[in-house]
Amino acid sequence: MYKLSEIMERAEQLAPNQPQFHQAVEDVFHSVVPYINEQEKYQNHALLEQLLVPDRIIEFRVTWQDSEDNMQVNRGWRVQHNNALGAYKGGLRFHPSVDLDTFKFLAFEQTFKNALTGLPMGGGKGGSDFDPKGKSDADILRFCQAFMLKLSNYIGPKQDVPAGDIGVGSREIGYLFGAYKQISGVFNGVLTGKAPGSGGSLIRKEATGYGTVYFLEAMLAHQDKELKGLTCAVSGAGNVALYTVEKLLQKEAKVITVSDSDGTLLCQSGFTSEHLEAIKTNKQVERGRLKDLADSSKDFEFKADTKPWQFNCDVAIPSATQNELNEEDAKALHENKVVYVVEAANMPLTSAATAYMVENKVVVAPSKAVNAGGVAVSGLERTQNALMQSWSSDKVDKELKKIMQDIHQACIEFGEEEEGINYIKGANLAGFIKVADAMLFQGIS
Ligand code: GLU
Repeated sequence: MYKLSEIMERAEQLAPNQPQFHQAVEDVFHSVVPYINEQEKYQNHALLEQLLVPDRIIEFRVTWQDSEDNMQVNRGWRVQHNNALGAYKGGLRFHPSVDLDTFKFLAFEQTFKNALTGLPMGGGKGGSDFDPKGKSDADILRFCQAFMLKLSNYIGPKQDVPAGDIGVGSREIGYLFGAYKQISGVFNGVLTGKAPGSGGSLIRKEATGYGTVYFLEAMLAHQDKELKGLTCAVSGAGNVALYTVEKLLQKEAKVITVSDSDGTLLCQSGFTSEHLEAIKTNKQVERGRLKDLADSSKDFEFKADTKPWQFNCDVAIPSATQNELNEEDAKALHENKVVYVVEAANMPLTSAATAYMVENKVVVAPSKAVNAGGVAVSGLERTQNALMQSWSSDKVDKELKKIMQDIHQACIEFGEEEEGINYIKGANLAGFIKVADAMLFQGIS
């Protein structure tokens, strides 16, 4: 029999000073412990103890010479958490704040998220404390080449298939892929998120955002409601946020915010598709700041140093980064009449924020279910690469929608409670069972 407090003590001993990893573990084990204590077949295999320790952690130095001939040193990591379901799969993040704790939490989450997609993918995550912000293209290329030189030995289409995440978009994936090809001499599906002309999948860049909205639609449909006319507050202005907004607008929802680290761009009347195009140009082409858009439309207000949770909305979609929404923000959202919180970023709510929402009967849809569309289309990219095919956007989009609806169904199956669907429990159990069954089947994982 497991006790949550004892297994969390073990987590603390094995990985001291890794608060984000502990947060992710506690979130999953909180649902899993009562479940497996009732299931004979999961006893006596040290399943939870195994999941506390990643299969392998690769940690390396990246030395590179910038375009002004200065030698630069960064740190790199790849956490290969679990490959019971298939080759390790998960993004690379380039951001100055990252450390081993970040990648351990992300890789742990990725294992269960990937399981939910139903595709044969294990979980991994990696990246570097390199800061791409404000760097020239030449410096990004030099860094990506040096990073891949250190990583290339540990990845491969049947071994570990990285992709993008914060700070790693199409440009970085292109440079990393080019470097891998030079080092190995082979053109294969070692990375996903490639441009469609280089073996990438259509709809990959939109997939996390579109998948988020497909999941939200499934939640609403389950309650005989629709998205049309609902007011949504979105945070972030990266890939996830902007394609979430795009799909929300297609579904005629009203989207009132996006944000970056300077503050929130508010549009009380709701963004139009022209507004979204202007935001995309600012972020994706000019790599600019939202505050520079404030005067471009009379409908916009820029709220410096403010998060998007201060305004009336039906749905809140945190799409920026982990722990961006704290208890105080949760209280503000509750006062502003929020009904659904849909996590599009990885673990965007602090534990206290989640507890507050649950206590106040706000429905929380967890990231491992909501944002699985990105990695799902990465899985479809791998399939296309293996078959040497390129599918139409219509085909990929239909597959994505079906996967998100199936994930929603799995959440219902495992999360049904008297008061309604507990999406956190549903996603945790549905993901865990797939991983645990494969681990048991393989004896030693
Ligand atoms: N970084 C994304 C995630 O958090 C995508 C990973 C992938 O496509 O492998 O799921």
